Amino acid sequence: MTDPDRIRPPQGHFIAGRLQPDAAALAVLRPSDGRPWAELPVADAATVDQAVQGAHTAFERSDWARGAPRDRARVLRRWADLLEADAPALAALEGVGSTRPLRDAAAWDVPFTAEGIRYFAEWADKLGGDVAATRQDHLGLVISEPYGVVGAITPWNFPLVMASWKVGAALAAGNAVVLKPSELTPFSAIRMAELAVEAGLPPGLFNVVQGDGRATGEALCRHPLVGKMTFTGSTRTGAAIMAACAQHGPKPVTLELGGKSPQLVFDDVPDLDTLAGLIVGAITGNAGQVCVAGSRLIVQRGVAPALVERVVRRMRAFRPGATWDAAAWAGPAPLAPIISAVQAARIGAIVQAARDAGAELLCGGARFDDGPGGAYWQPTVLHSVDASNPAVREEIFGPVLTVQTFDTEEEALALAAHPDYGLAAGVHTADLARAMRLMRALKAGTVWVNRYGRSHDFALPTGGWQRSGIGKDLGRQALEANLRLKTVLFGFS
Ligand code: NAD
Repeated sequence: MTDPDRIRPPQGHFIAGRLQPDAAALAVLRPSDGRPWAELPVADAATVDQAVQGAHTAFERSDWARGAPRDRARVLRRWADLLEADAPALAALEGVGSTRPLRDAAAWDVPFTAEGIRYFAEWADKLGGDVAATRQDHLGLVISEPYGVVGAITPWNFPLVMASWKVGAALAAGNAVVLKPSELTPFSAIRMAELAVEAGLPPGLFNVVQGDGRATGEALCRHPLVGKMTFTGSTRTGAAIMAACAQHGPKPVTLELGGKSPQLVFDDVPDLDTLAGLIVGAITGNAGQVCVAGSRLIVQRGVAPALVERVVRRMRAFRPGATWDAAAWAGPAPLAPIISAVQAARIGAIVQAARDAGAELLCGGARFDDGPGGAYWQPTVLHSVDASNPAVREEIFGPVLTVQTFDTEEEALALAAHPDYGLAAGVHTADLARAMRLMRALKAGTVWVNRYGRSHDFALPTGGWQRSGIGKDLGRQALEANLRLKTVLFGFS
């Protein structure tokens, strides 16, 4: 078992290629045991200005944007190699400081981070422009150019991975980046940036400013030299960021926001045991703190009792496990902590409101009282909920599953439709024609058929509809969102 007291995080901001100390202002706790881990500075407007000015200068003076795109790709690939080589140290930082188990951080988060950066590196020299149709004595070109400085703000649930999608795309497109990670999980981003410089990224192209949303995040959105903002987090914060970008620009924004994703199950599914495992995995992975968590089970009446019984049995088996406790994570059903006591209290309030509104509690419904000190929420299943129930309406961001039943495909679609969110949806059926109909009819940015969750599919863009977001991370579309078009017309008559 890793001793969390021995893992010391890097302190300060990362500006112009080196760590810059600043006065400590916030306590950072370890989610697994709730104990203080380190202190964090909060970058004020002057520090944010210094980082953005430095990024702008690096963008203007270095060959990053002007030079050969393959040179950029080479540096990004070297960076990905260094991230992988540093996996034990990075995973320790991520594991102690977030809800990600050290084991999973080393085996999944770090390799996934590195591979995402490689994916974007491969695009660097493949984004050509267009020759437009013009008169014979004209030549019209449409070329893509970087914005200059991209501002990125990321959440706490997958700190490294979320940062890599933003930073990898922006850098591969030729931009400089100033990243503000979540103040709850701030440190792995600094290690990431140190390794980028070690890989040959010109200093100043990737900066990390630490701090909270109010002081640091808002100052980043407001800065006139930030040409574009990219954000992942809650819908409420996304709206505030968009408003700031409108007021202090207007400047473009990419927003990856909240979700309340349904899983539709039909009577013809072949294997209930496998499906129950998949349904449970989709709401208990990272203790449900996943934007695309499958939080609403919508199941046809014939199969509902047998499926729900299997789901509840599995949900009851979970045991809390500190992220650094290797024995707990080698066990049959380990559960990650909730990021903070405040977030656990919020889960509790929604579950209580759901019960007050008539929901029947099939399992869970409270914090574990025998966890290793942090806030661990018992996997919870709520039955007999209608569309207006708070547990169906609100993103809970915890291991809480609601169950609704239907008879017809039309009813299933009506239940799946959410007034606010449209991030992802799952469809489980043996009927191909039905799967195709639903795949088209569901209002969601991603639809998974007979599976749930992403794999190593960086080419598939990810992002929400409705209030779940604007624009995409990953895929060619993420690169293009970091570029602006310039139209050129040559006349030679
Ligand atoms: P959050 O919105 O509270 O915070 C996200 C980031 O925004 C943090 O870095 C925070 O400091 C910053 N911030 C807060 N207020 C700000 C402001 N006024 N101006 C600028 N920055 C500000 O979100 P969270 O609690 O960290 O993360 C959970 C949320 O993220 C959930 O809603 C989840 O669904 C969403 N999420 C979405 C995706 C996706 O791809 N769609 C992925 C992961 C998480």
